[in-house]
Amino acid sequence: MDYSGEQFDVIVVGAGIMGSCAAYQLAKRGQKVIVLEQFDFLHHLGSSHGESRTIRATYPEHYYSHMVIESSRLWEEAESEIGYQVYIKAPQFDMGPSNNKSLQCLIQNCKSNSLSYSVLDPKQVSEQFKGRFELPENWVGVLTQLGGVIKPTKAVSMFQTLAFQKGATLRDNMKVIDIKKDTADENGGVCVFTSNGSMFRGKKCIVTIGAWMQKLVKMVTGKVLPIQPLHTNMCYWKIKKDHEEEFLVDSGFPTFASYSSESHIYGTPSCEFPGLIKIAVDDGYKCDPDERTWTPNEIDDSVYSWIEERFSGRVDSSKPVFTQSCMYSMTPDGDYVIDFLGGEFGNDVVIAGGFSGHGFKMGPVMGRILADLVLNGEALGVDLSYFKISRFEKNPKGNVKEF
Ligand SMILES: Cc1cc2nc3c(=O)[nH]c(=O)nc-3n(C[C@H](O)[C@H](O)[C@H](O)COP(=O)(O)OP(=O)(O)OC[C@H]3O[C@@H](n4cnc5c(N)ncnc54)[C@H](O)[C@@H]3O)c2cc1C
Repeated sequence: MDYSGEQFDVIVVGAGIMGSCAAYQLAKRGQKVIVLEQFDFLHHLGSSHGESRTIRATYPEHYYSHMVIESSRLWEEAESEIGYQVYIKAPQFDMGPSNNKSLQCLIQNCKSNSLSYSVLDPKQVSEQFKGRFELPENWVGVLTQLGGVIKPTKAVSMFQTLAFQKGATLRDNMKVIDIKKDTADENGGVCVFTSNGSMFRGKKCIVTIGAWMQKLVKMVTGKVLPIQPLHTNMCYWKIKKDHEEEFLVDSGFPTFASYSSESHIYGTPSCEFPGLIKIAVDDGYKCDPDERTWTPNEIDDSVYSWIEERFSGRVDSSKPVFTQSCMYSMTPDGDYVIDFLGGEFGNDVVIAGGFSGHGFKMGPVMGRILADLVLNGEALGVDLSYFKISRFEKNPKGNVKEF
């Protein structure tokens, strides 16, 4: 069916996790919503595909933990609506040198967000995890219960299905090439144009286009947002024979993150591929999302030794068995961009991007926030001042952090 020319309450551009969650929230609130995606639904060319994403409430920045707590509740709510599981709960284990500033802030934020947590010395860590984690003498571990693995492709599909069931229109292979103010409508609104010649009219528009954000916003407004696409890899490593079960969620193995001056390493329990564990580095190289070379990231020597030492030789650290590629949308401060586009669009267009490699867990809460912003002009319960575009006008590096 051709919907070109039709008027919608809200047009959502981009059907990754953010756009799919926003569409679900809007359809649930009775809005007439359409989602436009440039590729096939559930493609693997953006950021929301694959087998696993970590959810954790432990953050060095104080403004993310309570968003994760709300998101965690909304993940469960959506699961119970659809009737299947996308979120496998596990504890979260953060580790690093005891004087690491990020880790210290993270502990402080557990306190201020009333998250129950334990700080463990290396001996206690070894006891707690029965030797599966071994920390250097000057390190500490922080154990919290809100953690786990989310299945990304399955989760995006879940929100698209729920949105569709509630009346949303979903259209793929619809590349948005321009957004203009709707001059024919005295109440405002926008016209959204696609590369195949369609045009859609919307009272409001939400733009959630991941690594393509800089390109489209520049085309529409001339503004250059500091959102840099990075090509990155998730690496899967082989667990040595007879140790496979020890790394399962059911054996109490946690999602984990390591803070040190060398690299930020993170991973999930063994769940998606039998006998393999995901251990990845929060890093990547600059890329153009439309002209990727797909060259795998180089792995720093410190990662091999980290794997060998932290897992007491139980994981084969010689090389990953295979890798999956993905893109980060990095801002200079690693914080999201959630704001009205402003200018001639006023409050009619909301953008959400720059998720900087840590957005997936927030999908459901972002859907709630984006729906609130387009429908009410504000989102309660969250301090969006940290995510405004204007922070880069005051300081090109964005939010100032003490770590
Ligand atoms: C390797 C890796 C590991 C990660 N691990 C974690 C983790 O453990 N925990 C966590 O919370 N987060 C993690 N993230 C981050 C998380 O996956 C992202 O923040 C999140 O998926 C971003 O979703 P999005 O919807 O903003 O972007 P995307 O998923 O990229 O969706 C944007 C969509 O917009 C479409 N689009 C773009 N331009 C147009 C256009 N002009 N017209 C129409 N459609 C368009 C794209 O095709 C795409 O489908 C990880 C990311 C990567 C790459």
